[in-house]
Amino acid sequence: MVSTNALSSNRDMPIRGDRGAAGIDSKVAGWLESMDRKRQSGPHLDTLDIEGLSDETLAVHAGSVNDSATGCVGTPIYQSTTFLLNDDQYRSFAQGYARDRFIYTRYGNPSQWSVQEKLAALEGAESAVVFSSGMAAIATTLMALLDPGGHVVASNELYGGTYNFLNMELPNTGMSATLVDPRNYAAIEAAIQPNTQILYFETITNPLLKIVDLRRLGEIAARRGIRLVVDATFSTPIVTKPLRFGAHVVVHSATKYLNGHSDLVAGVAVGERKLVDQIWARMLNFGGCLDPHACFMLERGLKTLAIRMQAHARTALAVASYLEMHPGVRRVYHPMLPSHADHDLAKEIMRCGTGNVTFEIEGGDEAALRLVDNMKLARSATSLGGVESLISLPFNSSHSSFTAKQRAEMGIMPGCIRLSAGIEDPQDLIRDMDRSFNIIFSER
Ligand SMILES: *Cc1c(COP(=O)(O)O)cnc(C)c1O
Repeated sequence: MVSTNALSSNRDMPIRGDRGAAGIDSKVAGWLESMDRKRQSGPHLDTLDIEGLSDETLAVHAGSVNDSATGCVGTPIYQSTTFLLNDDQYRSFAQGYARDRFIYTRYGNPSQWSVQEKLAALEGAESAVVFSSGMAAIATTLMALLDPGGHVVASNELYGGTYNFLNMELPNTGMSATLVDPRNYAAIEAAIQPNTQILYFETITNPLLKIVDLRRLGEIAARRGIRLVVDATFSTPIVTKPLRFGAHVVVHSATKYLNGHSDLVAGVAVGERKLVDQIWARMLNFGGCLDPHACFMLERGLKTLAIRMQAHARTALAVASYLEMHPGVRRVYHPMLPSHADHDLAKEIMRCGTGNVTFEIEGGDEAALRLVDNMKLARSATSLGGVESLISLPFNSSHSSFTAKQRAEMGIMPGCIRLSAGIEDPQDLIRDMDRSFNIIFSER
């Protein structure tokens, strides 16, 4: 194996080293720590200079490879697991810059670099690393940034997979987490322990679409010397850029809005090069790299991210406004509705809304099931962020592992429905919903 040969030149490196101050285990990637040159942003291909470009332009152009061999306009798919080695590549292991060379696709591939550069540009970050799923990105990031015995203060309204990771995996490694109300900043501060290394929050919670004040979280993280990791899946960099507010690493399930077409599972971690290098080094061990063809699909999906997010947000707000007027609807949650508890905050830190709308209808879960069954355009499936509208009920999907009482304590009442608005004409969706409401309420 290429990588084994290359690493064997480092036989004398410690096998059980202490973790360095940066939190990286020297047995993992000693050569990364031996890097003596200054870390640049990247890794970098021959791509456009992106200085001063807006999100719309970055989404299209950032990271696209100028392939001088063919002059092709889009980034080619580098469907190769391995790359010819020369002295420089061998040296890159010994001298700690293997992430900046092509060696083997788990380590790096031009298709990964291209999409990583686009994602980093959109988040305003130095570096990004893509993963085979959002959970791979989240799990690897947490393991990279926590030391043995480390502690996380996290939101008590997390994505189920993340909650399970904190609950089931951290204790196996002597790590732990305390879950707190994401909008209770005094409780967040109070939960910080001497061994707390990470604050972990989602920009917009699921399903009630609460907004966390990234400015306050960034301020707490800076003052207490803790890293802030933010899952921005529901917002995307078009809606808000957490690094600007003091987040250290942003993670996404790229499966959702970033790719946007419900045809790919992927994840990403974005941030300062030094931190992303550490996350990358642990990705090598856990193995969740992204295949080149999937990178190509994600890069292609991202080209329309800026216009898609604005269309999602417009459609969602139009549907939410319709629902708010409907006599069969009890409550509607969308951050751009003035009735939303975090509306003012959303307007301050977000460029537009998100594509999700959550609402509670009369008649409980039974009526909600019938409403969803009778809809034709918005189809019943879990997940979110695709161009097509999807509709689901938390009680029998994302939150089915909780009892009705636990759900009620979280604010998820009977009749709660989650819509991921696609980019269809909002009037078509509203007509579809109206027709379905008429059917179920005439049955009663
Ligand atoms: C879907 C999702 C994830 C997990 O992503 P996968 O790509 O399914 O692994 C994590 N966080 C949030 C907020 C999500 O919606």
